Amino acid sequence: MAEPVVDLSERVVVVTGGARGLGAAMAEVIVGAGGRVVVADLLDDDGAATAERLGDAARFAHLDVTSESDWQRVIEFARSEFGKVDGLVNNAGVSTGQLIEKEPVDHFRTVLDINLTGVFIGMQSVIAPMREAGGGSIVNISSAAGLMGLALTAGYGASKWGVRGLSKVAAVELGTDRIRVNSVHPGMTYTPMTAETGIAVGEGNYPNTPMGRVGTADEIAGAVAFLLSDAASYVTGAEIAVDGGWTAGPTIKYVMGQ
Ligand code: NAD
Repeated sequence: MAEPVVDLSERVVVVTGGARGLGAAMAEVIVGAGGRVVVADLLDDDGAATAERLGDAARFAHLDVTSESDWQRVIEFARSEFGKVDGLVNNAGVSTGQLIEKEPVDHFRTVLDINLTGVFIGMQSVIAPMREAGGGSIVNISSAAGLMGLALTAGYGASKWGVRGLSKVAAVELGTDRIRVNSVHPGMTYTPMTAETGIAVGEGNYPNTPMGRVGTADEIAGAVAFLLSDAASYVTGAEIAVDGGWTAGPTIKYVMGQ
């Protein structure tokens, strides 16, 4: 179990895409910090295994983030199991790797539906329960590709810019309800989604990022736990890059043409 970084002992958090990768690391950090978590995902076997590994403070629920009825069922399940919902991490997502001129329109639409409309429905679904709970924290997982124009991201990049903008709209609308909404922008991080790109964890393995390495899932989860917690009680509408400096600017090697 990961070391607690903040206190989440009063929190009940739904983590979408929680079966594996970044979402599973977030669920582990939330439980490690004393919170309770509903791991929600399309992947039933992986999701159930993740929840079981985390023990009695975790449950698994099947969720397709594009389905309104799935969302209603999952939020009701979280409330019946743990009494309330005051945290949501909209983490589920799919990636693309195509040039704009090669991206099929249907695929573009599908990626927007999962990565952006899924976040929209998720936020809609928790507003009333969070008001009832006296407030809450929503963390939307965007990407470095939502902070800059990253080649080969077409639908993915558009969806992640959308998540960043939608988070700010929600922060503005929900501030007086004590519901905070922030976006987190991971850089290249080692997970099942990115493993196929050939990236490797370790110093010096990712020289186009100022810190020279890819991130680990725990490093993204730490920022999410902070935003879920009262340590971030005055943080809303913010965008937090957790990317080893990737979006801060080009590396010295790049500037010097080496
Ligand atoms: P992953 O593929 O390992 O995990 C994504 C999870 O989302 C999977 O468990 C998958 O089943 C689930 N999912 C996909 N579609 C879903 C749907 N319709 N309904 C419910 N669940 C669904 O990927 P990851 O690397 O852990 O990525 C998690 C999030 O972080 C994504 O939003 C991704 O875009 C973002 N991100 C990742 C990186 C990275 O380098 N890994 C960088 C920037 C942003």
